[in-house]
Amino acid sequence: MSSQPRLANAFWVVSMTLCPTAIATVSVDTTSGDNARELWQALGAIGALGASISEEHGGVGAGVHALSVVAEAIAEAGVPLMLIALSPAVCATMIDGFGSPAQKAEWLPGLADGSRVLGFAITEPDAGSNTHNLRMRARRDGGSWVLSGQKYYVSHVDNADALLTVARVEDELKVFLVPTDAPGLTRSPIKVEILSPERQYNVFYDDVRLDDSALVGPNAGMAVLYAGLNPERIVSAALLNGIARYAIDIAAAYARERIVWNVPIGAHQAVSHPLARAETALAASRLLTASAARAFDAGEPGGVDAAMAKLTASETASTALDAAMQTLGGNGMSREYGLATLHGLVRLFRIAPVSSEMLLNHVAHKRLSLPRSY
Ligand SMILES: Cc1cc2nc3c(=O)[nH]c(=O)nc-3n(C[C@H](O)[C@H](O)[C@H](O)COP(=O)(O)OP(=O)(O)OC[C@H]3O[C@@H](n4cnc5c(N)ncnc54)[C@H](O)[C@@H]3O)c2cc1C
Repeated sequence: MSSQPRLANAFWVVSMTLCPTAIATVSVDTTSGDNARELWQALGAIGALGASISEEHGGVGAGVHALSVVAEAIAEAGVPLMLIALSPAVCATMIDGFGSPAQKAEWLPGLADGSRVLGFAITEPDAGSNTHNLRMRARRDGGSWVLSGQKYYVSHVDNADALLTVARVEDELKVFLVPTDAPGLTRSPIKVEILSPERQYNVFYDDVRLDDSALVGPNAGMAVLYAGLNPERIVSAALLNGIARYAIDIAAAYARERIVWNVPIGAHQAVSHPLARAETALAASRLLTASAARAFDAGEPGGVDAAMAKLTASETASTALDAAMQTLGGNGMSREYGLATLHGLVRLFRIAPVSSEMLLNHVAHKRLSLPRSY
């Protein structure tokens, strides 16, 4: 047995205790859109954000399974930060796997301790689910790379130090580290109906000049991009499992106490069965997520496992949240009980970071050998 599964198991115990404690020390209302940097740093300080970053660069080296444990723990504690599926899961994994020694030394320790944050910019207005259509180009001019184009729905740009940006170099997609204060980079906010500290932006690259040190894995081809996508799906799934746990627990506690006839409402099967069904779906979803994480950490291809995990977790969280809101009646809609508050976020995960339809396409093609439809 490699040391990673053991480390991930140990992380489970530690995260479930330390993450809620770290969260409790920070007075940030994460539903208001307030800056959550303080909270992020509190999680960094206990080692949670460096779970999957290699030890030599300031992390714990416990793999994506351990990072998924953290994601589940913070969501279960009521703080489902989407950023965990981006900065540590996508960006740190790409840099750890393919960055130059200088890029690793510059970025990984800060990503691990929460003092630095990276955003990930791939989606474009004319190329959402279809990355083959990406238009943003990086061209050579003298000794520089010059990036031009637009990304949209890029999360957390206002709090990121740089954006890992996917751009086309001839026929290949390459990944560039673009500082958020680079000359020629501008942004405009996109208003969304999601209550979370992460804000969304259009990002415009107007001849942004970068030197060679900005390119991640110059000779690794698409492997750099693919390295980050499965961790993003797995950690998103874990976050959703934590949200489902949070919602079911609130609803079960409420159903045990609330009496409107002569028994607690949980005695009515119309109330208890949807919660029991959600609990069952959550147990299955957690197994899929853990198995996808272990496959990734073991170096297996694991794309179908990650797709199934994210698909199942997004549906499970939607069902669980809906059942929980129904259990609370009118209180299901209140800010105080914190359920309806999560509605936009949970719904988002059937669209992003990859939609349920694209995940089904992947499973149909790769696992069932059905003709490729995309
Ligand atoms: C809040 C939020 C945060 C985000 N954060 C980021 C971020 O940080 N960085 C980033 O790069 N992007 C981010 N995104 C973008 C997100 O990844 C995309 O919205 C998502 O990938 C879907 O792309 P699209 O919106 O262009 O939809 P489209 O690709 O236009 O798809 C629209 C619909 O058509 C369906 N569809 C399309 N093609 C097919 C097909 N072949 N078969 C079946 N169905 C299909 C899709 O499933 C979807 O339901 C974010 C989005 C949101 C809303």
